[in-house]
Amino acid sequence: MARKPIKKTKKTTKKKAAVPQLQGFRFGSKGREPVRLKKTPSRAKKTGKAFQESQGRKMGSFSLLRGMKDVLPEEQKYWDLVRDKVEKLGSIYGFGKIETPILEETALFRRAVGEDTDIITKEMFSFKDQGGDEVCLRPEATASVVRAYIEHGMLNRSQPQKFWYLGPMFRRDRPQAGRQRQFNQFGFEAIGAGDSVIDAQLIILFYKICEELKMDVTVQINSIGCLECRPAYKKALVDYLKVKKNFLCDDCKNRLGKNPLRILDCKNRECQKMMEEAPQIVDFLCEDCKGHFIKVLECLDECAIPYNLNSKLVRGLDYYTKTVFEIWPLFDEQKEDQLGTQGEENEKGVSTNETNMTNKTNNKDGESVASKVDPSNLALGGGGRYDGLAEILGAREETPAAGFAVGIERMILVLKKQEVKISGSKKADIFLAQLGDQAKKISLKLFEDLRKGNIKTAENFSKDGLKSQLEQADKLGVKYTLIIGQKEILDRTIIIRDMESGVQEVVDFDKAVEEVKKRLK
Ligand code: AMP
Repeated sequence: MARKPIKKTKKTTKKKAAVPQLQGFRFGSKGREPVRLKKTPSRAKKTGKAFQESQGRKMGSFSLLRGMKDVLPEEQKYWDLVRDKVEKLGSIYGFGKIETPILEETALFRRAVGEDTDIITKEMFSFKDQGGDEVCLRPEATASVVRAYIEHGMLNRSQPQKFWYLGPMFRRDRPQAGRQRQFNQFGFEAIGAGDSVIDAQLIILFYKICEELKMDVTVQINSIGCLECRPAYKKALVDYLKVKKNFLCDDCKNRLGKNPLRILDCKNRECQKMMEEAPQIVDFLCEDCKGHFIKVLECLDECAIPYNLNSKLVRGLDYYTKTVFEIWPLFDEQKEDQLGTQGEENEKGVSTNETNMTNKTNNKDGESVASKVDPSNLALGGGGRYDGLAEILGAREETPAAGFAVGIERMILVLKKQEVKISGSKKADIFLAQLGDQAKKISLKLFEDLRKGNIKTAENFSKDGLKSQLEQADKLGVKYTLIIGQKEILDRTIIIRDMESGVQEVVDFDKAVEEVKKRLK
């Protein structure tokens, strides 16, 4: 039943004594149990409100938690589209779907993501459960997938094992445009192979998903070396920054001792300025990392995937080694003006200046893609190689791996900004209108027959008047409306109304499905 608008009742004080025997027996009264007020329905109705008031809430005052979002039916077409593409391409590229629990041991992420990362220090939804275990809502899924790989002995299967996943992640981030506390990611992981071709294939796959979604994007890529060569770079970076320490933000002053690489992608403009002349990690790569990186780039060239070498890209998680990459949305200048994009900082703190630091640009048309990057847009997703992670999480053998994760809300934001055309779900072929109780019941059954006959039927069984039903049918743009009323029930007939011409035909009720099919052909 459609809800009637709720009437606001005026507060009145003078009728206090109207039902005196009930005083003190209302919900929420101190020291008394609530009483069911059977004989006074009008009072009984108020008890719900009284109860809510006793809980310190007004009626209807519930709202979303900060940083959470509802996905309403009208949004679903975007979600379906992204899910379909991910599933389709995942299967084509040989990745199997994996689902891991949302709740995991907190220590898993502490160890995998790194103690000094923002995720671990500020953003975990972690708590002690009733059994005293330290658990958390997963902030990302790579650690879980690697845990599953080890736990299920997948090292003994053919390598690499390739997985894709899709689901909610939780980070107690500062809520702002493009950032939520519960958001969804899809991701791809290839575990058990160290070949550079794997890194390239993951980037190609990410790029192809964007391409299939008709999104204009650019790949940002860097190498952050390995445990062998990174220390020398870290030292050079710290030496360079020591004298500039006073100009760094408080976070970066802290990072200088703990995690200097993260200063490279700090969002603070002053820090970014300080980093302009910083040493570049590519100059410090060992032979193995350098060779690996060159091969990844060669593979991308071979497949004509445009990319920018971005020396400031380090990613926020500790487990990465060698290749790191992100995909950013691109907007042409005209669109940028129209959209009036401003305000948001790039998630990874990479400004236009930084894209100018790009030391190589490769694009199908030979033009500079850096010039088209909209600095106000956030990375769609990113990833890289994480050769040491499985061992950190308990694998007994060396288990090189690589993967990436993409934010679905972020992707949908860009799909909308780039005005990518999306067809919604198929609209109804016909409308089924009814008049009277008997007709309602028969219509319910006829709806089932129409569904079995693959005829998409709209209805509003809660409505009684024909006029409002025909208006709804008109709004939906259906070609025909079936009308059944008292007279039709007696005659065992049904009316088929052509919504464009208004012409109505009476047909045998038992042939309704057949007759509709004939007309829809
Ligand atoms: P990360 O796991 O940090 O590498 O993030 C990968 C992608 O997930 C980002 O590029 C975003 O698209 C998305 N993402 C990360 N954090 C959030 C967030 N708080 N809200 C919405 N999307 C996010």
